[in-house]
Amino acid sequence: METIDWKNLGFGYSKADFNIRCWYRNGQWGELEVSDSENVTLHIAATTFHYGQEAFEGLKAFRGKDGKIRVFRMEENAKRMQRSSQGIMLAEVSTALFTEAVRKAVRLNEGYVPPYESGAALYIRPLLIGTGPQIGVKPADEYLFMVMVMPVGPYFKEGFKPTDLVIYREYDRAAPLGTGKIKVGGNYAASLVAGQRAHHNGFSSVLYLDAKEKKYIDECGPANFFGIKGNTYVTPKSDSILPSITNMSLRQLATDMGMKVEERQIDVEELAEFDEVGACGTAAVISPIKRVYDADKDIEYLYGTEPGKVSVKLYEKLRGIQYGIEPDPYNWTAIID
Ligand SMILES: *Cc1c(COP(=O)(O)O)cnc(C)c1O
Repeated sequence: METIDWKNLGFGYSKADFNIRCWYRNGQWGELEVSDSENVTLHIAATTFHYGQEAFEGLKAFRGKDGKIRVFRMEENAKRMQRSSQGIMLAEVSTALFTEAVRKAVRLNEGYVPPYESGAALYIRPLLIGTGPQIGVKPADEYLFMVMVMPVGPYFKEGFKPTDLVIYREYDRAAPLGTGKIKVGGNYAASLVAGQRAHHNGFSSVLYLDAKEKKYIDECGPANFFGIKGNTYVTPKSDSILPSITNMSLRQLATDMGMKVEERQIDVEELAEFDEVGACGTAAVISPIKRVYDADKDIEYLYGTEPGKVSVKLYEKLRGIQYGIEPDPYNWTAIID
């Protein structure tokens, strides 16, 4: 642990000392258990393996300038995991159990929370899976909720550097009335082929359009989309995108800065009218976009090679709250002690 090179961490798995586990059996959740193993032993017919009964979350803990550890909006992650559970019939984890497990995982692995100066953070990954055996298609009768953590670097090693997105109309990540609005592994499996093709061609991510009409912007693979037009923050309204907690926070900060906020359908051609566009999510807060390439129509939308002013301002404000250097008027952060 003393040997972690905090400044050169990427976004990848590494082992911390402990993870938290909790089993749901006979209709109820048991006690939180602490494990130092990276392995889980499961029944060969567990529903998570066969029918994708799996939901996850992602959030971060930050070591502030004051040395305190803060976790960002974990109640929102708990509520979102409950919505995911309703969507694919998993046993629900209460907000109290979720936040207790997160606090415990952070506390037990405190030495893995990167120092303030590094700009890195502790990534927290809660996971909920169906463990009971079924071969008929029905929900499991047993579940396992786990929380693992790992230190991760600033998402972009090069800094807050704009990247390129690509539009391919031949792939969808989620159906209009499907599972796009919940955080389940199946959506990610469905995005791997398009994602790999995008990376191979030098793009950071695919910008998905709505699956039905291929007319409106949905989101960027694992992050929400936003555009800045004058003094307005615009983000898509769609039933097939995942409600990002980062996006929700940015909308509030934009409002507080006196901007107008619009959640509405965004026609893909409106890309030509934005001053700045970005992807937002826990991993990077904001990744500014310098170019969106519509591969089917061979049209490119360009936004400049430097991050836009508004994106920078929003990014700094949110990071400042997370690291305890800006006031936190909505109590978004919880101190772990
Ligand atoms: C997790 C996720 C996001 C980002 O959500 P945050 O709560 O901001 O981290 C965006 N899109 C998808 C598809 C996601 O799974």
